[in-house]
Amino acid sequence: MEKIEVLNIELDNYTKEELLIELLESVKNNRKRFLVTANPEIIMMARQNPEFAGAIQSADYVVPDGIGLIIGSRIIGHPLKERIPGVELVEELLKISDENNLAVYFYGAKPEVLKRLLDSVNKKYPGIRVAGSSDGYTSSPEAVAKQIESKSPDIVFVAMGAPKQEEWIYRHFKNYSKGIFVGVGGSFDVLSGTVKRAPVIWRKLNLEWLYRLLRQPSRWRRMMLLPTYLLAVIRDSLKRKPPNE
Ligand code: UDP
Repeated sequence: MEKIEVLNIELDNYTKEELLIELLESVKNNRKRFLVTANPEIIMMARQNPEFAGAIQSADYVVPDGIGLIIGSRIIGHPLKERIPGVELVEELLKISDENNLAVYFYGAKPEVLKRLLDSVNKKYPGIRVAGSSDGYTSSPEAVAKQIESKSPDIVFVAMGAPKQEEWIYRHFKNYSKGIFVGVGGSFDVLSGTVKRAPVIWRKLNLEWLYRLLRQPSRWRRMMLLPTYLLAVIRDSLKRKPPNE
């Protein structure tokens, strides 16, 4: 599949549907895959932190979660097909897991959020085999890694926000023989019903980020990265253009 480079990070140009078909294929063949749901904050973190950049570059798939990446790809003249929001990816993967009786591990979020999420998964997706779970504030991430190693689940959701979730996956990925490992940020908060996703109209207008900012003003510091990101993309796209164009 085609890759589109935005500020040195190669993004996979899939629709959500295409990606899901490939992931199910990987699960059926017991392959292991590392998937990053990227946004401008992740791209900027990678620019500042070579080790984190290495983790992202090692992933099998990097897909655009934030609208900022779609805009970035248009600026450089190689538009990505569509946004793949992490929370929708989790929902679709849960449906697939239910239908195919897959073993899923849930790692991340606050203890009460995780509990609520597991209750709802058990009710809504009875076909899923819950291989295990741990909240994202455990004192022993290594113990979680070991537990996952012994259970060998088909899918592992890691919901601790970037860069923590990608760094954890990167550190342990080599120890696993199979499984889809995916960093899914605040998805457990949304899917447990703890945090509301933006209403559809906000999403259609590509203003989901603004809705989240208004609900959680503490996010503003992270949002400050956006203008810097856009400027960097524009500068990069000008550099790429041959002279006289
Ligand atoms: N989180 C966690 N462990 C930590 C820090 C954060 O499990 O040490 C969880 C937090 O409870 C929340 C998620 O990670 O559920 C991060 O959510 P956020 O909205 O910041 O992530 P984003 O989707 O923006 O990457």
